[in-house]
Amino acid sequence: MLAIMNPQNLTLSCEFFPPRTEQGMIKLRQVREQLQVLKPSYFSVTFGAGGSTQEKTFETVVDIQQQSNVMAAPHLSCVASTKENIYELLQAYQAKNIRRIVALRGDTPSGLRGSLGDFNYANELVSFIRESTGEHFHIEVAAYPEFHPQARSAKADLDFFQQKVEAGANSAITQYFYNADAYFSFVEECTRRGINIPIIPGIMPITNYTQLARFSETCGAEIPRWLRWRLQALEDDKASLQAFGLDVITALCERLLAGGVPGLHFYSLNQAELTLEIAKRLNLIKD
Ligand code: FAD
Repeated sequence: MLAIMNPQNLTLSCEFFPPRTEQGMIKLRQVREQLQVLKPSYFSVTFGAGGSTQEKTFETVVDIQQQSNVMAAPHLSCVASTKENIYELLQAYQAKNIRRIVALRGDTPSGLRGSLGDFNYANELVSFIRESTGEHFHIEVAAYPEFHPQARSAKADLDFFQQKVEAGANSAITQYFYNADAYFSFVEECTRRGINIPIIPGIMPITNYTQLARFSETCGAEIPRWLRWRLQALEDDKASLQAFGLDVITALCERLLAGGVPGLHFYSLNQAELTLEIAKRLNLIKD
């Protein structure tokens, strides 16, 4: 039996994508049950590119909210969203007693351009949520310690991040990164600008080098050269790659925790094992 130990009162959370099949939903329920030992503040559920998983996101969120002891937090994106359908969705979430939303711009299915809806950028979505539902929702936004791939400059990206916070965001979750200095530098700059919301690092376990490299390319997360080369060498040996990946992520989290991060957000990839193993190594849970 695993027991919770969270002496620093960290905000822990896990992210899922909405399963497409009933079988996937059943498996996710088991995963959630296992992850409850972390006493997460919430489980978040992504929203597919172009709003493609809107219904599945809603179903998964309601399932979490009704079937587990953990609060559910839907992701919402601007892509292909109108004011009307976002308003309806917010009403539906309020009716299900959802109290937290992750508000994003999103990406179009074909790539990284524009939003094709009533909202161009996440700050507009945050403003709309505040205007239409007041303080009902705790709003999370995305932050990019290594900067967003479309950012014009570091300064512009920070200015726009600040705009989202001023629009009413309560806290932020970062894109994943493998360089703790990027995170600390980002937070330092935010503090200098008077941005004081919690900025929670997003933690991506390493399971598959090819997928990680492809995804990192599009989302602008840097895999440092030394890490890339080590992972490449282990590409065909899944067990060794995962073992090495666990060491790397544990060391990253240890540095983040030593630097006083307010919490950790685990990109669980709908699996419990790696997140639980990292949490055990960090003494956040024990056998
Ligand atoms: P914004 O904050 O709107 O920023 C996007 C870009 O536009 C940045 O380059 C910024 O510098 C620039 N910008 C911002 N405001 C302005 C402005 N007013 N004028 C000009 N430029 C501006 N995607 C999904 O589709 N579904 C998900 O569920 C999902 N979940 C995510 C969860 C987390 C924690 C993170 C970090 C990302 C997630 N994403 C998700 C990916 C995200 O949608 C993309 O990274 C997207 O490209 C940017 O979203 P954003 O909310 O950060 O956008």
